[in-house]
Amino acid sequence: MATDSDHTFDVIVIGLGPGGEHVAGSLAERGLRVLGVDRGLVGGECPYWGCIPSKMMIRAADALAEARRVDGLAGSVGEVTPDWSVVAKRIREEATDSWDDTVAVDRLTGKGATFVRGTGTIAGPGRVDVDGTAYTATKGIVVNTGTTAAVPPIEGLRDTPYWTNHEIVEATELPASLVVLGGGAIGCELSQVMARFGVEVTIVEAAERILALEEPEASAALLTALEADGITVRQGVGADKVSHDGSTFTVTLADGSTLTAEKLLVATGRRADPAAVGLDTVGLAKDSRTAPVDDRCRVSDGVWAVGDITGKGAFTHVSMYQAGVVIRDVLGDDGPPAEYAALPRVTFTDPEVGAVGMTEAQAREKLGNVQVGLTPLGETTRGWIAKADGLIKVVADADRGVLVGATTMGPAGGEVLGALAVAVHGEVPIERLRSMIYAYPTLHRGIEDALGRLA
Ligand SMILES: Cc1cc2nc3c(=O)[nH]c(=O)nc-3n(C[C@H](O)[C@H](O)[C@H](O)COP(=O)(O)OP(=O)(O)OC[C@H]3O[C@@H](n4cnc5c(N)ncnc54)[C@H](O)[C@@H]3O)c2cc1C
Repeated sequence: MATDSDHTFDVIVIGLGPGGEHVAGSLAERGLRVLGVDRGLVGGECPYWGCIPSKMMIRAADALAEARRVDGLAGSVGEVTPDWSVVAKRIREEATDSWDDTVAVDRLTGKGATFVRGTGTIAGPGRVDVDGTAYTATKGIVVNTGTTAAVPPIEGLRDTPYWTNHEIVEATELPASLVVLGGGAIGCELSQVMARFGVEVTIVEAAERILALEEPEASAALLTALEADGITVRQGVGADKVSHDGSTFTVTLADGSTLTAEKLLVATGRRADPAAVGLDTVGLAKDSRTAPVDDRCRVSDGVWAVGDITGKGAFTHVSMYQAGVVIRDVLGDDGPPAEYAALPRVTFTDPEVGAVGMTEAQAREKLGNVQVGLTPLGETTRGWIAKADGLIKVVADADRGVLVGATTMGPAGGEVLGALAVAVHGEVPIERLRSMIYAYPTLHRGIEDALGRLA
């Protein structure tokens, strides 16, 4: 028989994505009474349908591409034969336990937290309802309910059996052809995987260019790379209508042209729903699309939010970073406030697009005196040796003499980014960066060249 104390906790965490799980486990380890609530799988999107399985798919696709590069560099490996069943098996056995979160639940409860599977809704300050059962949080509530795939209001689309990231990650067999709505990071990554496994892929991007949030030079270089993989990219034209006749999708574009494919993937962004978790009962406007947070990740008194729902960047590293801020704030520990000026992000295409801080356009909007330096990777020694496509671009606040943004596109572009993320975050003076020794012949040596071209 449940007692009142069974329903009273110091902290209740609604949604256990990467950040929520970290908050719940860490606060429980520090001796707080913590209730973690998730209606899906503990760990959220990242381990089951996001980062981890998608990067496993990408690793496999890159291995195929690398094998195909032997011709012209090292001889011949004969025909490379893709087999999706190997990837599907890894996703089931190594990544997701066939979408079973027992290990994650045990990890969380092993730290001392209580776990309830269900839908949590804030009913007012300190009050949470989980599927009809009332709980009280004496110290506060942490919201980490994340996002779901945003399905655009395209005529007919909702009545079709479209795929989101869930279905493509769970696929055991690949279609012969695929239309991908959306040429952002997720759309581009998954398109390239599919193409390298032999699927005929068309990307439809309504914006003027794919990867529209990053530097235009990166978009252009990625377009070339995707087309080299056999992908058709339709950019600057949206989809007006989608239909499905039982076996084939037909997509009518705004210019009147049509596309047909066996499957259709919706990758047009992510959508948070703050009102659905009851954040409107603690002061947030009902129609708010995100849960804005201060530099302690507080939404209001006694309510914190972490992860995609905060609108600070839909990345696991943001969710985990904010979790650290919340843990300190709840415990009253010292620590720096959250800051996002050096937010790093990586699109794991081949070539990879790493980026940190502001793009050139963002910097020109905010700053008076912006300088830019760009080095095509092919002009660096290692880039030339490796026949590598990509670029390094740095964006500087010339008045302060520091970098405010950078893009590192190329093989391991996400790793090369590390150096520039330190430079932006640490506000290292450009003169110090210029006087550094860069190992020869590395890709990151292109940073020195890009700094030399700042103008
Ligand atoms: C295909 C794909 C690839 C990605 N690749 C990367 C990558 O390489 N790197 C990267 O950093 N990020 C990547 N991301 C983004 C990353 O997955 C998310 O940013 C990350 O999961 C953090 O999200 P979150 O913490 O906000 O919560 P989520 O992971 O979205 O988890 C939210 C949890 O809340 C639960 N929930 C929702 N509402 C309720 C409720 N009312 N009650 C109870 N539970 C609820 C859900 O069941 C879920 O478990 C990728 C995403 C996708 C889709």
